[in-house]
Amino acid sequence: MQDCIFCKIAKHEIETEMVYEDDFVVAFKDMNPVAPVHILIVPKEHVNNFYELATNSQKALIMGAVTDAAAAIADQFGTSDGFRLITNNGKDAGQTVFHLHFHLIGGEVLGAKLI
Ligand code: 5GP
Ligand code: ZN
Repeated sequence: MQDCIFCKIAKHEIETEMVYEDDFVVAFKDMNPVAPVHILIVPKEHVNNFYELATNSQKALIMGAVTDAAAAIADQFGTSDGFRLITNNGKDAGQTVFHLHFHLIGGEVLGAKLI
């Protein structure tokens, strides 16, 4: 989608260090981290949010890739014993970038921390 920052990052139109990439998702560090490990897992296809993923024909492939990415990133950053995977769905939930993404946070005792 034009003018979508995460589409541009996913297409490598904006230089960003990827920590993980496969056919369906990319992952990179959040520019405003709330924890020592704060990675965004982003589908390559533009989907507005999790609710809209429900009607996407690729949803099983995308969520499978998100699962693989989360496990690989947890291993890569040494947080497999404790991390949180969050998606903010819609503005009332605090979504600010309207391209589906999952925050993987960890690297500390998280308590009730959200995004
Ligand atoms: P949301 O509030 O939509 O759940 O999360 C959006 C997240 O994207 C925020 O944590 C914000 O810091 C991050 N973010 C927004 N724009 C960029 C960007 O251009 N690069 C990176 N690395 N992170 C971004
Ligand atoms: Zn997009």
